[in-house]
Amino acid sequence: MVMLKLHLSSLLEQDAPFLLGALAVILSGWYGGFGPGMLATVLSSLIIYLFFIPPKFSMFNTNDLDSLILVVAFIAEGFIFSIILESRRKLDAQKSEFISIVSHELKNPLATVKGYSELISKRSNQVNDKNLELYAKRIILRINQMNLMINELLDISKIESGRLTYIDEEFSIAGLVKEIVKDQNLVTEKHRIILKGFSKKSIKADRYRIGQVITNLISNAVKYSPQANKVVVELRNTTRSVLISVRDFGIGIDKSELSKIFNPYFRARTGTKGIKGTGIGLFISNQIAKRHKGKIWVKSSLNRGSVFYLELPTV
Ligand code: ADP
Repeated sequence: MVMLKLHLSSLLEQDAPFLLGALAVILSGWYGGFGPGMLATVLSSLIIYLFFIPPKFSMFNTNDLDSLILVVAFIAEGFIFSIILESRRKLDAQKSEFISIVSHELKNPLATVKGYSELISKRSNQVNDKNLELYAKRIILRINQMNLMINELLDISKIESGRLTYIDEEFSIAGLVKEIVKDQNLVTEKHRIILKGFSKKSIKADRYRIGQVITNLISNAVKYSPQANKVVVELRNTTRSVLISVRDFGIGIDKSELSKIFNPYFRARTGTKGIKGTGIGLFISNQIAKRHKGKIWVKSSLNRGSVFYLELPTV
């Protein structure tokens, strides 16, 4: 045992086992909370005590006392880490719950306002006011935008707490893209969304979630190309997948920021001033694409425009 201790302790720097142990404690505490954090602390302490603390061959053999002090210090440190990480987990859970409650509370009054606006829009021809229908439609448009933001907040809190569920079914990807392009053409004022290409292939996926990704890419393309008047959506087959691209002729994204745009809450510095957003749509889209074993990526050139690609495996 002594030889083994000497051999292992000479293999690594003296602090390395403690650092590895602390890493194990932090990772277990981060993902599991207090219980797993403390379990990792006890296991690491045992491993360090049994295998890594080199014995000292002195006359008074203080080895055991020294080792004990080191291990007790390590356990105390692990205990503190575990408490801190547990409170971080609790805070995260409370934050997710708070976002979820507030989002649901906001949705109810919005649904009522939308209902009344639709009623006003329908009845506007009965009264002699031509602008009434226009005003009502503008209210509905804004409500839809707010609903989209609230849904994104709900989704991100679900993703963070692992509660985002998917219902898979087999469907024609061309059918879905066509439907979304039609809907987006109804809500955009200045831009024309042009659909090119075709695919006969079907995919097995959550139709609503895939629709959410494509809608997000198209509405971003419109939003970040205020000077342009068209967005081109294209469908293409590849060997075992289907490729959907969304091209805009807008502000583009600087090279230095391209790698970050799928990070949660990230908004590019260039050009987004005055364009509203939360920076979570692409993060959610990327999570959904990954869940379907698909891929999402972007090519962009500043002040020229961007092309976002979504590749999904076909059945
Ligand atoms: P949001 O649009 O709500 O800010 P997203 O997650 O959809 O959030 O996008 C993240 C960021 O990526 C945006 O803030 C913007 O800087 C950049 N971005 C997304 N799509 C485009 C696009 N088509 N053109 C230029 N920049 C874009």
